[in-house]
Amino acid sequence: MTQKHSSWTRRAFLKAACATGASSALPFNNFSALASDEVIAVPTRPFGKSGIEVPILGFGTSLHVAFSQLLLKQAVKWGVTYWDTANTYMGGNSEKAIGKYFAKYPADRKKVFLVTKSHAWNADGRTRDLNLSLERMQTDYIDLYFAHGVWSADELDAQTKSWAQKTKAEGKIRFFGFSTHSNMAECLLGAAGLGWIDGIMLTYNYRLMHSDDMRRAVDGCVRAGIGLTAMKTQGGGQVQTDSATELELAGRFLQKGFTDGQAKLKAVWQNPQIASICSEMPNMTLLMSNGAAALDKTQLSTRDLSLLQQYAKETRSAYCTGCTANCESCVEGEAPIGDVMRYLMYCNSYGDDKLAADGFNKIPQKIRSRLTRLDYSRAERNCPQGLPIAKLMQEAKKKLEIT
Ligand code: SF4
Repeated sequence: MTQKHSSWTRRAFLKAACATGASSALPFNNFSALASDEVIAVPTRPFGKSGIEVPILGFGTSLHVAFSQLLLKQAVKWGVTYWDTANTYMGGNSEKAIGKYFAKYPADRKKVFLVTKSHAWNADGRTRDLNLSLERMQTDYIDLYFAHGVWSADELDAQTKSWAQKTKAEGKIRFFGFSTHSNMAECLLGAAGLGWIDGIMLTYNYRLMHSDDMRRAVDGCVRAGIGLTAMKTQGGGQVQTDSATELELAGRFLQKGFTDGQAKLKAVWQNPQIASICSEMPNMTLLMSNGAAALDKTQLSTRDLSLLQQYAKETRSAYCTGCTANCESCVEGEAPIGDVMRYLMYCNSYGDDKLAADGFNKIPQKIRSRLTRLDYSRAERNCPQGLPIAKLMQEAKKKLEIT
């Protein structure tokens, strides 16, 4: 849509923003319900065939021990009781923050569906990581344990299966699965055929959810009874006001009383196949905003959804979809392109420079030092999003490397 044909001009957008009080960072819908003493809880959905109902809004916890307790208490109050962490988040402090909370409020442990993850790729490493997570979180079981960052279904091998079965039998974990932000559709389809994967957390948002591959993969998992949790649902940064589509999108959402961030959550929730959204909520404002969106029953209209798709199309070269099978094999030498793109997104779209730098600097020095000298021309030709990979590798190194 061109500026000329859009009914949304910058002036109309600003008028709507003034009328709704958009300068506030707080949500418009259900804010008063959250702020009252009324007992309210976000809705729940079944998590695959586990027999467990989980809240549609999960708490992605990268937490500081000191600042987290009030947030966790409030999350329980609003029924945001699916907590996701990992043994590496905040150098282990995120799990310690949860442990501190359970030590103070032991009765809340049973209310929480607790998820953590390990990068270990053998049984001994995984057992070591799990025991440390249990100790840090002051609990004797994890509800759902994830292999962290699976990028190919081949990783889901026989020794992983037998570890999962043995650890379930010991009562240390109730369910097992994996998280993935690379080659998600392939990983999901592979898992759907295995019969021993209970849950998957995948990158899933308005940019990715409409492709045939993703639809097939999600259908397969749902048929196999695998519970699905969406992460990275914002699909990059905030909608700006630079194009006619962006103006119309932002203006429409404002008139309906929610932000573009809330609208992106709604787009995912409108697919009932997704049990929960795991959202990083480092402060009360975001917890309230997302909680309000979860409580709000307004559905996005067909026009809203098609505008989001149009926006995704227009801004596709600014978003990496994690299809690393398309690019990483086209480079002579090791280049974790998908990981680097994700760290850049943390920095450029989420404004989380620390998370971005922490991730980038964990890439072995030998690989980092060669990153900007590799030839990415074949990878760029193969990238369905048309990303300028070589330029972005330079940008990442310049912005994120700690020398
Ligand atoms: S850079 Fe392109 S090909 Fe590589 S993972 Fe991202 S979108 Fe896919």
